[in-house]
Amino acid sequence: MSNLIEKTRSSYDYPLLIKQLFLSPLAYNPDQQIIYRDQLTFTYKTWKERVHRLANALASVGVIQGSTVAVMDWDSHRYLEAYYAVPMMGAVLHTINVRLSAEQMLYTIDHAEDDVIICHSEFLPLLEAIRGRISEGRKFILIDEGDEVFNHHFEFEGEYEKMLAEASPEFDFPEFDENTRATTFYTTGTTGLPKGVYFSHRQLVLHTLSTTAALSSNSIQGRLHRESVYMPLTPMFHVHAWGIPYIATFLGTKQVYPGKYIPAFLLKLLENHKVTFSHCVPTILNMLLKDPTSLQCDLSRWTCIIGGAALPRSIAIEALRRGIDVFGGYGMSETCPVLSLSQLTEMDLDLSPEEQADIRCRTGVPIGLAQMRVVDHDGKDVPNDDKTPGEIIVRSPYLTQGYLKDHVHSEKLWEGGWMHTNDVACVNEKGSIRITDRSKDVIKVGGEWLSSLEIEDVIARHEGVSEVAVIGAFDLNWGEIPLAIVVAKPGAIFDDRDIIQIVKASVDSGVLPREAITMKVQRADLIDKTSIGKINKVALRGRFL
Ligand code: AMP
Repeated sequence: MSNLIEKTRSSYDYPLLIKQLFLSPLAYNPDQQIIYRDQLTFTYKTWKERVHRLANALASVGVIQGSTVAVMDWDSHRYLEAYYAVPMMGAVLHTINVRLSAEQMLYTIDHAEDDVIICHSEFLPLLEAIRGRISEGRKFILIDEGDEVFNHHFEFEGEYEKMLAEASPEFDFPEFDENTRATTFYTTGTTGLPKGVYFSHRQLVLHTLSTTAALSSNSIQGRLHRESVYMPLTPMFHVHAWGIPYIATFLGTKQVYPGKYIPAFLLKLLENHKVTFSHCVPTILNMLLKDPTSLQCDLSRWTCIIGGAALPRSIAIEALRRGIDVFGGYGMSETCPVLSLSQLTEMDLDLSPEEQADIRCRTGVPIGLAQMRVVDHDGKDVPNDDKTPGEIIVRSPYLTQGYLKDHVHSEKLWEGGWMHTNDVACVNEKGSIRITDRSKDVIKVGGEWLSSLEIEDVIARHEGVSEVAVIGAFDLNWGEIPLAIVVAKPGAIFDDRDIIQIVKASVDSGVLPREAITMKVQRADLIDKTSIGKINKVALRGRFL
């Protein structure tokens, strides 16, 4: 006899939809606050009403189930409104990476087939640069915060606040299959062209539940709970700000959205609103610690997950000295993202700051629904000796099922039924993972990926350059910056500044992302090659770093 559960005809088959997070009993916290910079404070009651209004406003410009709505905004309450309203309508939310070059942005807008783009006035110059090439039929909504609006040639359907004010505060959010796509965004991780990853309602709900459990179940350290005050410090266009805004809302937690990241202002918000929980890349934490105003700030109630790159020991120790509860988290765009956390047990908290830093800087232990293995070339698990390296491969119910419209890379990502991270790591006897290397040929500048291949492409066009290879070099401010290793043609005379100048010109014309201007140049006589003639970046790193 089959033991599949039988459904009663009238039983309710509860779908895992983002709507259920929005309606969760915990999220019913009518007087709790959602704050935007030092400008606006909403109660959950008003904010939830705004979500309904946004859905009506979007419906009025033609958004229906299956439409795609893109957002270009700083971290704001508006972004949070879109996180809910768009998927809850059955449409797809495309969070546009505003740090991409204009060319890459155009590619993602076309590739995601955006129907409506909600754009903050500060990003209008980016859109204006590609206006003539954005295909017909897209609609635009302007976010105008009263700043001077750049001279543009767009016709907007309306201004965000005005549209919300005119819209009805009641929208009947439909129910549909939990496997419906809810979000899309682009990662520029491994090759020149950005790759679209996508997540369903079911995946976002399961990621929320699993990460909530991990963050709120640790006994003392590294906690996010109902009494926390949350402020994201990872852009909301990047993996839904690590999915934490969904958790904070699901829990009915007080939330603070900081707008554009300005270090002294972020510190002011942290202090004024008594923020207790954030997450960011090491560069942002370093920037905050280095800002002179931070010395006057009491940061001792602040917990901060560091991810996107390994937490450097020196930064961890400095943060601990300031009383910050800092610890590592790991994931990637493709994984929704949270996979592991390096939280401490009560016993670990008795250790010295230096000993604690050893734990806090690790990649950590997998969270509830994440299955992580570290395997050697034959696919066998490496021993738990904290030194044998292998690749991290993962399974979880919330990993992207592939890259949007890209069968070849999707198959490669999921080779053998496990998602391949290309991160090299080892595991200790407690099952805690530590990333030791990255096999991807990309550079992470201040949390943003730069493709080394694209920069090489640009430099190679210089008439005096014979060969070029770009690798990532450690930088205290940016975490990593591009280092161009350049071999000149015999007899060619040029300055390092000429190389920097052509990269700058490509940034100015929108071909390369802005972070490329952090590049430095190193001259060489030859570029190391592998046995099959490929540039050997491992050898170059050994030689030049
Ligand atoms: P992204 O897709 O931009 O979020 O980048 C994901 C990549 O960042 C991973 O594959 C790792 O290479 C790196 N990364 C993320 N978190 C960590 C961490 N805690 N330690 C070391 N590298 C990390």
